[in-house]
Amino acid sequence: MNLETIIGLEIHIQIKTKSKMFCSCSNGGENSPRFGEAGEPANTTVCPICLGHPGTLPVANKQAVEMGALMALALNCEINRTSVWARKNYFYPDLSKGYQISQFELPLAVEGHLTIINRNGEKRFNIERLHLEEDAAKNFHSKDMTLVDYNRGGTPLMEIVTKPDFRTPEDAKLFLQELKLLARYLNVSEADMEKGNLRCDANISLRPVGEEKLYPKTEIKNLNSFKAVEKALTYEMKRQTDLWNLGTPPMSQSTRGWDENKLETMESRDKEESADYRYFSEPDLPPLFLNEGEIAHLQAIMPELPRAKRLRLEEEYQLNGVDARMLVEDEAVAGYFEAVISEAREWLEENANTEGTSEEIWQLNRQRLSKLIFGWLTSELFKLMNETGLAIHDIKINPENFAEFIILLYQRKFNSSAGQIILKKMFETGGDPEHIMEEEDLIQVDDADALEKAVTRIINENSEQVAEYKKGKTPLLKFFIGLGMKEMKGKADPEKLGELFREKLK
Ligand SMILES: [Zn+2]
Repeated sequence: MNLETIIGLEIHIQIKTKSKMFCSCSNGGENSPRFGEAGEPANTTVCPICLGHPGTLPVANKQAVEMGALMALALNCEINRTSVWARKNYFYPDLSKGYQISQFELPLAVEGHLTIINRNGEKRFNIERLHLEEDAAKNFHSKDMTLVDYNRGGTPLMEIVTKPDFRTPEDAKLFLQELKLLARYLNVSEADMEKGNLRCDANISLRPVGEEKLYPKTEIKNLNSFKAVEKALTYEMKRQTDLWNLGTPPMSQSTRGWDENKLETMESRDKEESADYRYFSEPDLPPLFLNEGEIAHLQAIMPELPRAKRLRLEEEYQLNGVDARMLVEDEAVAGYFEAVISEAREWLEENANTEGTSEEIWQLNRQRLSKLIFGWLTSELFKLMNETGLAIHDIKINPENFAEFIILLYQRKFNSSAGQIILKKMFETGGDPEHIMEEEDLIQVDDADALEKAVTRIINENSEQVAEYKKGKTPLLKFFIGLGMKEMKGKADPEKLGELFREKLK
């Protein structure tokens, strides 16, 4: 049977505010387990409001509303000028009030979309809604008891619901990764799935190709990583395909949990129907109003978003899509790259003017500089950062020094193996490259006489290889260059040596 997979996502993102959604309790701040390493002791960031004592009144957190709206705008959503808080009623020990304040009929924003890049290029996925709500407390289950930490109770969340637009588990994963990047660019959340500040439930069903109607969906919970999302959906796709082929497709909605150890989904409790929550508008909170001025302000403070940055980097620095993506993955890395390239181009401009370079050469030179910077940044510098576990804003090499390093390379003041030594020293000491180059005696020998002598000597001393080379075994050129580099104590330009050998051995 020819089946089509239908996937939709429901995503919760913890918002990085100072205080909780409806009271002034700390939202954990920079030190919360959600945002950093060590958290506050259990049940210490609580108050009568977030614990739901009678007679208390909630007040909506302005910062959470702004961050939610900012995300909604970045997702190209339509912001509802008026949205309404709603009570979602259910009983569970992690919910001290017996209800959760959320938004139901009139959410903060609707009808958005996010574009991702998959193996076929760009693809757009539609978003149904984005609403704000408070989180529940956290339960810790052990063998014979359950402990509840109310610190998380009442912290702000945004929930994003997509349209059932996904046809492959891979696209669902890529969408979540792009969403995480967006949240980080906007600084509204760390959006780290492993830490639980981005949580995702995935809905999946199959249908025969050509049919329009949707069949009962299965909701998969307990997905703690992007990989888990992809693996669980792939598993579920196969499970449901088998059911269809047996003539017994799922006839009712169900909920299944992902078991990371067994690598399979397991049936769990039946999904509550929406009506079970007995939603009604929250009587303790007025509707939420956002006016044109507030929305215009959010538009004005919107940073350049990942997709726009990728497209601009490709255009401005002649990078291919994969390379631009690599830089944009970390906003700080993209910023560093641009700072280096602007320094290097300034230098090039000054030098190009004095030499009166033609436009064509000028473009080629700019491109060569971009390539050098990208190459050394993403291979050698990333390697040093990986080895030491340092992030780009922690390293000792500032963009000016990195640009100077690249310019020296560009001018062939040293070769690439000397470059590796110099960069490592710069990384360790923060020193400037010219100084290190002199100190370590790594300046490339440009003395034509010395090179010529070395080449002649090598040719004379290796008559056997010379004869083979002349018979057509041209890969031997590498062998000659190697000898030449050794003779010049590693300080020659291998390209120049190659040229000399080729010429003499004609
Ligand atoms: Zn509180």
